[in-house]
Amino acid sequence: MIIAIDGPSGAGKSTVSKEVAKRLGFSCLDTGAMYRSVTWMALANHVDLDDADALSALARDNAITFGRIPGDPMPHTVYIHGADVTKAIRSREVDHAVSRVSAVSGVRDAMLIQQRRMGMQGNYVIEGRDIGTVVFPDADLKIFLTASDDERARRRVVQNRARGVGSTDFASIRADLCKRDQDDSSRAIAALKPADDACRLDSTDMSMQQVIDTICQRAQCVDRKGVVQYDVS
Ligand code: C5P
Repeated sequence: MIIAIDGPSGAGKSTVSKEVAKRLGFSCLDTGAMYRSVTWMALANHVDLDDADALSALARDNAITFGRIPGDPMPHTVYIHGADVTKAIRSREVDHAVSRVSAVSGVRDAMLIQQRRMGMQGNYVIEGRDIGTVVFPDADLKIFLTASDDERARRRVVQNRARGVGSTDFASIRADLCKRDQDDSSRAIAALKPADDACRLDSTDMSMQQVIDTICQRAQCVDRKGVVQYDVS
């Protein structure tokens, strides 16, 4: 079974995905971490962010892997060629460049294959921007999670503080989130938008517990679609 959780930055997707997966005994996939990893590679290797071919090659030729701790559905560590990039991919430089990299179709094609291969291995909660629309259009349950700009920025401050990475300045975080959402929503391919059959959840005035309860209740009511074979060639 696949539960797709899409939505703008800072809406609480990671926290919610992890807790829903824990309760249901599923695994979690954070597809944003994959686009961040390609972006980190591009910055570390001084690749021109306008060079779509070079960015696509980076995404195609460098497998991104996740390290897991038994009992925790959310991968604990992100690796590229054995190097731990978990913290590096959350830097402000990556925040600023990731939407440009993720708008490149060759990058998205390479990520789509990796995401489908992982997601088809079992029961997954997968979070991102295009999971219900492009990556797993037959997902059993699709959630589009939003919250007001202020609330999302507030949550990101708390998250960065807890992770010990990135900025904790409310105003700059809010400006960055809004700019990234604008870029992600207006790109030509796989733009950030709800799938027609997604359940829209505005979490501004909800506690994370209420959001998690709502999604778990819906997951228990859906008609499972069984194993759908996606093209991963
Ligand atoms: O979720 P997170 O904020 O870490 O995502 C970082 C960026 O990765 C997004 O702003 C977006 O540009 C890109 N992304 C995407 N498609 C996804 C997940 C993330 O384009 N499925």
